[in-house]
Amino acid sequence: MKRNVRIALWLFAYFIMVFGPLFLLVLAPRPPQREFWRDFSVGLGFAALTLLGLQFVPTGRIPALSTLFPLDTLYRFHHRISVLAWILALAHPVILFVNNPYTLRLLDIFSAPWRARAALVAVVAMTFLVVSSVWRRKLAIVYEPWRGSHAVAAILATVLAFYHMLKVNYYSASPFQRIFWIGLALVWAAFQVYVRLIKPWLLTRHPYVLAELIPERGDSVTLSLNPVGHSGMTFRPGQVAWLTIGQSPFGIREHPFSMTSSAEHPERLEFTVRSLGDFTSQLGGLAPGERVYVDGAYGTFDATQSDATAYALIAGGIGSAPMMSILRTMADRGDERPVILFYGNWSWDSITFREELDVLEERLNLNVVHVLEMPPEGWDGEVGYVTADVLDRHLPPERNEYIYFICGPLPMLGAVRRALRQLRIPLSRIHSEEYDMA
Ligand SMILES: Cc1cc2nc3c(=O)[nH]c(=O)nc-3n(C[C@H](O)[C@H](O)[C@H](O)COP(=O)(O)OP(=O)(O)OC[C@H]3O[C@@H](n4cnc5c(N)ncnc54)[C@H](O)[C@@H]3O)c2cc1C
Repeated sequence: MKRNVRIALWLFAYFIMVFGPLFLLVLAPRPPQREFWRDFSVGLGFAALTLLGLQFVPTGRIPALSTLFPLDTLYRFHHRISVLAWILALAHPVILFVNNPYTLRLLDIFSAPWRARAALVAVVAMTFLVVSSVWRRKLAIVYEPWRGSHAVAAILATVLAFYHMLKVNYYSASPFQRIFWIGLALVWAAFQVYVRLIKPWLLTRHPYVLAELIPERGDSVTLSLNPVGHSGMTFRPGQVAWLTIGQSPFGIREHPFSMTSSAEHPERLEFTVRSLGDFTSQLGGLAPGERVYVDGAYGTFDATQSDATAYALIAGGIGSAPMMSILRTMADRGDERPVILFYGNWSWDSITFREELDVLEERLNLNVVHVLEMPPEGWDGEVGYVTADVLDRHLPPERNEYIYFICGPLPMLGAVRRALRQLRIPLSRIHSEEYDMA
């Protein structure tokens, strides 16, 4: 099925699952004496609940979805919808309270009925989800505890909001409405079972072993993995997988990394990791033989999908990881299309893959433009960041025929996108991968 058709089908299914209950509300026979504001508030509550119930989907790494939409788009969608669902969940009772101040007594947790207590806890859980996610870095919340509490709060909020809706029994009482709501809840539960149980179980059936650990320039290390009892994972160059090392895949300690090896060699997967925090800094101390689970391949950051005549790859620091997979795959396939790699680094000595890039320049139709923040003495290459001027100096006149792939930290992605816009490169030719989306 064509990509656009699959996207349209996903969006249609999402639309039905989010707005279905609202249609039921509008179309259902309305009992007499129901006021507009009360019904409006109920509609907002329904929308908050359906949005919340589907929040597990974009970040659940459903293969059919995460090979269709860019990963950062899915995460951004998840973030924005969370805030929207939270605003709707807050507006729902506020409208009721303003419309009928008598209902304020439902806030008294000691005397309120269970359905109101459930709603109160659900809104508190949603507030926790939004505050702890939007301001996670400012509040200095460590990633793992945040992720664990995020999953618990999300399930709690959904279950309690659903209980509240069933108990209030407002526009959910007719058999048709009940069937619809229960069907919807089963879809939500099925996603949870798939993500938390079935997927980890499938990973246990396809383990990998750490075969080699190769130190790299730039405080990085390459993990080379061999499949155990299976033929490995096929992937497209530029894609990403989540690694769980030395632990059960049923846990939450997994980290995303781009494959750096050639897609022509699924029997030997490589990931190059820069030491940036507690997990990544421990990797250099691993011993070969360690068991690794690889959940992938995901993402649409994939040069081979396009029928481009030439590529411009723009990497900041370890953002070169997917670019290496693209270049190594092109070399293995004898791909002769022109490629230009703009590679921003701190110093000459910290350039990961430096020597191999020299070799690839000989094997491919490749031109590497190094851009250094702290160049060595006598350096006559580019200095500073990858700016519009740097791009302009090295891109050929037929630059609009190139497809652009950008990968690196968030500020660098923004700056390069702006630079490309300045050079009037059409947006449709620019693909990017964020290493900072959580
Ligand atoms: C799509 C994608 C591909 C990536 N590919 C590479 C790569 O090829 N090579 C490489 O060196 N780095 C890559 N990264 C970054 C890498 O995942 C993080 O540097 C690493 O997870 C940090 O973990 P830590 O515990 O060492 O650091 P911490 O100090 O704990 O975390 C630093 C930051 O990294 C993020 N982070 C931490 N743990 C996770 C997690 N489990 N999942 C998602 N984000 C997390 C959080 O925003 C956190 O604030 C990639 C990131 C993404 C999103």
